[in-house]
Amino acid sequence: MIFKVNLEEEVIKSLETGVFDKDDIEPHIGLIVQSLEKHIPRPVIYNGYGVYFCSVCHGSLWQIKCESNYCFRCGQKVDWNNIKMPL
Ligand SMILES: [Zn+2]
Repeated sequence: MIFKVNLEEEVIKSLETGVFDKDDIEPHIGLIVQSLEKHIPRPVIYNGYGVYFCSVCHGSLWQIKCESNYCFRCGQKVDWNNIKMPL
């Protein structure tokens, strides 16, 4: 069992070393999947008036594209080559 103060760091260490008890990792699978999903580039939404939005949290993104490939609000990786217009 993992009984450390920083549980997330202990889970990461367990995964990196390959030494872990399945029961210790299983409660964190949702968080692990959620973290990996943040690294899958998602389209950006363009409102037609110079503002781009994250397609996950719908927060506005930096307008200078090269400044960030990640949403500074939710951490989602964004794909500036895949721009969608709102429906
Ligand atoms: Zn976002």
